[in-house]
Amino acid sequence: MNEQELILTSVLQCRRVDLYTGTVEVTADQKQQLDDICSRRSSREPAQYILRTCEFMGLDLYVDQRVLIPRPETELLVEAAATFLQKAGKPLSVLDIGTGSGNIIVSLAKNFSQHHFLALDISKEALEVARQNARTHDVFSRITFLEDDIFSDTCIRKIPLCDIVISNPPYIPSGDIADLQPEVLQEPHGALDGGEDGLRFYRRIAQFTKHALSRNGFLFLEVGQGQAKDVQDILEQTGHLVVQGCLNDYSHIERVVIAQRI
Ligand code: GLN
Repeated sequence: MNEQELILTSVLQCRRVDLYTGTVEVTADQKQQLDDICSRRSSREPAQYILRTCEFMGLDLYVDQRVLIPRPETELLVEAAATFLQKAGKPLSVLDIGTGSGNIIVSLAKNFSQHHFLALDISKEALEVARQNARTHDVFSRITFLEDDIFSDTCIRKIPLCDIVISNPPYIPSGDIADLQPEVLQEPHGALDGGEDGLRFYRRIAQFTKHALSRNGFLFLEVGQGQAKDVQDILEQTGHLVVQGCLNDYSHIERVVIAQRI
């Protein structure tokens, strides 16, 4: 659904097709709600924050200003990990670094009941949203939520050894943030800012996997446009990771980098 359809079906409590068959009556109250939404949209508040919902991997997730709005490209990252999990002959542990709304970990937990899941985030507020989404989708008991900063040494000590590490880290270079669209600027700064060259989190995650990823375990990373080569170099330079491949998104942008711990 496009944005207008999303807003209309949500306020009018109808299906998309009803919008085009002319069968929906609009009450005065609904008209008022639509006017309010239009004025918030004109001040560039993202539709997903206004409606408090975002669809990801077929799940309706709760979102608000405490978390990044899940992007369609991230579904590719989830699908890559899912393909791997599907083939696993034993229960595996999966760590999601920077879980945000919990979009990645909740959709994986929803599809794989035999594996164990850990969701890490530095933001207490984001973890509240992730927990709420896990409860709504009945996977709360299978996800361990951890509030910590991957840049701290205590975090490295606290995280158990995992078989899969997955992450869509902040990857926008600090200097580019001010030029982003007003909608994006309403998202949490910490979920966007990837440091001076946008690669700060990849360097840290690469080091982190030395301790957190089991031998032969897999790392799945979403990367920003034009970052795949640099990220692959960062991973290879650790000496403990070997790049296994890179997946393009639907706009033919290299979007997911996959590596294995040796
Ligand atoms: N894991 C969340 C997502 O993919 C949050 C990512 C982030 O905050 N950078 O949308």
